[in-house]
Amino acid sequence: MLPAGLSHACAQAGRLLLDSVLPPLCLGCNEIVETPGTLCAACWQGFSFIAPPYCARCSAPFAEDLGEDALCGACLARSPRYRRARAALVYDTRSRRLVLPFKHGDRTDIARACGRWMARAGAELLAEADLVAPVPLHWRRLFARRYNQAQLLARVVVRQSAAKSPPRLAPELLRRRRWTGSQTGLRAQERRGNVRQAFDIHPRWVSEVAGKTVLLVDDVLTTGATVEACARVLQRGGARHVDVLTLARVVRPAV
Ligand SMILES: [Zn+2]
Ligand SMILES: [Zn+2]
Repeated sequence: MLPAGLSHACAQAGRLLLDSVLPPLCLGCNEIVETPGTLCAACWQGFSFIAPPYCARCSAPFAEDLGEDALCGACLARSPRYRRARAALVYDTRSRRLVLPFKHGDRTDIARACGRWMARAGAELLAEADLVAPVPLHWRRLFARRYNQAQLLARVVVRQSAAKSPPRLAPELLRRRRWTGSQTGLRAQERRGNVRQAFDIHPRWVSEVAGKTVLLVDDVLTTGATVEACARVLQRGGARHVDVLTLARVVRPAV
């Protein structure tokens, strides 16, 4: 086996070689672009990047600026278990074309650009974090997919931190100990029930969590049930704050 540094260098050389023979393709639509790992102009304009004004807790976009501390109707009605959640993109038909191949189609190369957008959207959260933890997959799903997309994103996000003492990547902090099946098609309350007690803190990390600010990383925030179940476990383990950073989030029309 090659030493880690050498095998990394070989992988990089291989990638450079591929980049030199294949034209770089847009991450969103496979059109040819100038720079690898980027979007074409049409995709860039079509993607809905999330920016203020938004809810101070969950970053649901507001149509008008209601002030820095304003909360959305959902957060006022039911306070989420996390302190703040931020996302780079609105989860819609456009961003789904990026998220689905990344999640299910072995397109792990997408993580680099997405992680950069996430680090920008969550810069404030990243600056305050002590630990960055991906939402874990159940081992059965990890076995089938071969990678945890949240972990790939978490790694890029930590690398992008501009802080003097960057947060520590804690890829195995949380474990998914119960098989929960797919959450698709379940309503918010059903999702919460489905993931209750699905997670725990890895014994190796139990003593590390107390008093720490943990940044949870996931691909898509839908109802927030999964990250809230993780936040609950971390809070019980003594975490000081739990923030959430996702690549995309579902935005429901205001009611
Ligand atoms: Zn494109
Ligand atoms: Zn909110």
